[in-house]
Amino acid sequence: MKVPLLDLKAQYAAIRDEVSAAMTAVVESQYFIMGPVVAGFEKACAAYCRTPYAIGVSSGTDALLLALMAENIGPGDEVITSPYTFFATAGSIARLGAKPVFVDIAPNTYNLNMSNLESQISNRTKAIIPVHLYGQCADMDGIMNVARRHKLVVIEDACQAIGSEWNGRRAGSIGDFGCFSFFPSKNLGGFGDGGLVTTNDPARAEKLAILRVHGMQPKYYHKFIGGNFRLDALQAAVLNVKLKHLDSWTEARQRNAARYDRHFTEAGLAGNPVGLPQVFAREVLVTADSGLRFQVSDRTPSSLDRTARHIFNQYVIRVPRRDELQKFLATQEIGTEVYYPVPLHLQECFAYLGHKPGDFPESERAAKETLALPVYPEVTDEQAAHVVDSIARFFRI
Ligand SMILES: *Cc1c(COP(=O)(O)O)cnc(C)c1O
Repeated sequence: MKVPLLDLKAQYAAIRDEVSAAMTAVVESQYFIMGPVVAGFEKACAAYCRTPYAIGVSSGTDALLLALMAENIGPGDEVITSPYTFFATAGSIARLGAKPVFVDIAPNTYNLNMSNLESQISNRTKAIIPVHLYGQCADMDGIMNVARRHKLVVIEDACQAIGSEWNGRRAGSIGDFGCFSFFPSKNLGGFGDGGLVTTNDPARAEKLAILRVHGMQPKYYHKFIGGNFRLDALQAAVLNVKLKHLDSWTEARQRNAARYDRHFTEAGLAGNPVGLPQVFAREVLVTADSGLRFQVSDRTPSSLDRTARHIFNQYVIRVPRRDELQKFLATQEIGTEVYYPVPLHLQECFAYLGHKPGDFPESERAAKETLALPVYPEVTDEQAAHVVDSIARFFRI
């Protein structure tokens, strides 16, 4: 039984006609840059994220860059973020000449560890970029508290977390900015690159919209040095169609995550919870205990539903002999991925920051132990059972 990490063709087959009609309408109109389709998508996406403003942009990376530019962040400034994330989070900080300052993750959520946050704030700190990794919100109450106390801007990297919630509030609606990606493998993926910035603040929304078109307002009068950060109308047309299906796809991902939870438990790979706070109920950990025993958080979905909505962009387990397991699963035609093998503080391009192995031990440990399993909406229960069975076989041989 083949189980790819992601099967975009399965999703496309279900919406082919709808998407074709929407794309054809754009082509017939020959209105490719900005215009009503982009505006319509921004409106729908703002409603979905429960923010008054949403600005469509060229990618998730550009969403982060634009939010930082809107705050005039540059040389001499520091921005706090996680070293255990996709490169773009810290890359956008560095591209503007500011310094990424890393704070280690919490081992149970892979998100910023609140107990390390405040000690990293200096008088140069301008912003915090929490990352809602794998589709689960970082501790936004804690982060907003610290940020307000120190007058710091909060830019949520919600690129993996569209529709996820923290205490009933949607990702991207809690901080000063929310940054989203429509890279094809994200929960809401376009037919190419795309992104979005959300904000609750009309002045910030206006500045983002101006920066997106070369800082231009009115035409050919340049208020700021912006760039071409526009979302294509063709992408907006595709995303508009897909947005209508997003909740049902998210529910299917959650169902698959629950299936994995159950199969891991039934396979005897689950033990007792490892003392995680209640709020991280659905975060499943398969942790090496002693040799071949595992621990899986067994908290019930109901406690999650009250506090946080995990959208499972990834379903990630933590295992010993991760690389061997990944190779074995590949021989069983099961696709997996390592997000991410090298934490950002150890990347070659950030050598100038002067970090060394051991600086952020939980990020380094996660980079060695985590493995993402196929959790896309069309995964069947048989496939999930097969994946777990194969993992069980690997560890028992
Ligand atoms: C995907 C992603 C990005 C970048 O988005 P792109 O659209 O690929 O530029 C940034 N941060 C995180 C956490 C991501 O997962």
